[in-house]
Parts: sequence; structure tokens; C-alpha cells
Amino acid sequence: MLVTYDGIVISKRVVGENGVYIDILTDEQGIIEAAAHGANKINSNLLASSALFSYSTFCLKKSKLKYTVNSAKPKFSFHELGNDIEKLALASYFAQAVKFCTPSEQPQDSIVRFFAIALYEIMNGRSLDQVKAAFELRYSAELGFAPNLISCDNCGSYECERGMYFLPETARLICADCFNEKFDGEHELLFPETLFAMRNIIFSPLERCFKFDIRENAAKQLSHICEKHFLNSVEKGFPALNYYKSLFFR
Ligand SMILES: [Zn+2]
Repeated sequence: MLVTYDGIVISKRVVGENGVYIDILTDEQGIIEAAAHGANKINSNLLASSALFSYSTFCLKKSKLKYTVNSAKPKFSFHELGNDIEKLALASYFAQAVKFCTPSEQPQDSIVRFFAIALYEIMNGRSLDQVKAAFELRYSAELGFAPNLISCDNCGSYECERGMYFLPETARLICADCFNEKFDGEHELLFPETLFAMRNIIFSPLERCFKFDIRENAAKQLSHICEKHFLNSVEKGFPALNYYKSLFFR
């Protein structure tokens, strides 16, 4: 049986001389592992489409539970990511995250579009830490782990003159008037810009969730909160994330 899906290659393994296996992220079937015969040869017509982060229309032959790439037509190239070690490391972290969180053989809601937008934002010069934070927080929400960012969890205020706290352990907002250091546990007093950015990431349409302006201190706070929230939500660490972070502390 032949099936056709648009998808992005999120990992590639070469086995022996000619065996190439790719994991393709799709909306229709989650992650599909497919054999791409001869795709590591320089004259193969699958060479470009089977490359890491290739976004293509794949025509796949399915027999029993195995897929083989029959043909593929590139839609968009993210190959430029390979020219910059920091960008590549961040994209690899995103790929490891979606590979861990996306089941096989189950339809997904707009995951390909979300992943493509994230790669595009990395490639096109937006601050990498900002893209990372937006990916982590929005993806948490897409997976069902959205923090409550609408208003104070106690009194319902949308804002407070004395500020709003984020409680990372329970992923809630609490206003300074309701905040009680004794009972609320771990807390972070948010810069107004941080809260604005977090709300933008969660509540905007997908294509807008990476687009916001933020100054340095608030950006640091956002980065710290979003990473922690994502890792707590999925209960997993990622080698590519450790590598990405190590690049900035050499
Ligand atoms: Zn309150």
C-alpha cells in the first residue's frame, strides 16, 4: 500500500553500507520510521529528502508495520541550520523533544507546522534563547501542560500593581496581594514583560507565538521558567539540551 504524508525528518541512522532509516514527524501518523534505501549515496534521488530537518512530501510503501520511502519531494529546506553549531544544537534539542513526546501511529494536531515554524525562527536570526523558551512553553501547552496564566489563582486579578508571582511547582499565577510566602512555596516575582511574553506564547496563534520583544533581564527569567516548566512536565532530560547549554559556557 502506498501512502503520502508531509513531514520533517527528525532523526537519521545509517546501518551498514546502504541501510538508512529516518524518523519522519507527521500530523497523520505521529512519528514514522522508514527505510530510505541507498539514501546515503551521493547520486541518490532521496539524498536531500532524507537529510536531517528535510521538510518533504513523502510517498511511502507500507507493508505490515514497516515503511519504505518510495519517493520524496522536498517542500522546504532547513539545511542552513547545519552551518551554525548553536542553531543546529537547538534544533536537535527540539527534535529529541518531539521524538520523545510524539507517539507513533497516532494523529497529531498541527505538530509539523509548529515544528517547521520553530526551525524557521531558529534559522532566521531571532534570539535563540527566545525561540527556545517559546518552543518549551507552547509545546508544554500543546501536550496538555499549560500553566494557568490567565489571572491570579486566588482572586482572579489579571494584573496587580505590586506584581504577579509564578509558582513553578503548581504552574499557577498568584498576585502580590494574595501571595503568602509561607504557603506558596517556590516562587518567582515576574517582570511584567515576562508575563506578557508568557501569555503571548500560550494564547497567540501558532505563527505568532515566537514573536515578541523582551529585554535582557526579563528574557533570562523567561528562559529559566520555560525550560524548568517543560522539563518538569515531560519528566525527561535531553542530551542535545545539555550540549546546547554547554556551548555558551566554554
Ligand atoms: Zn490575587
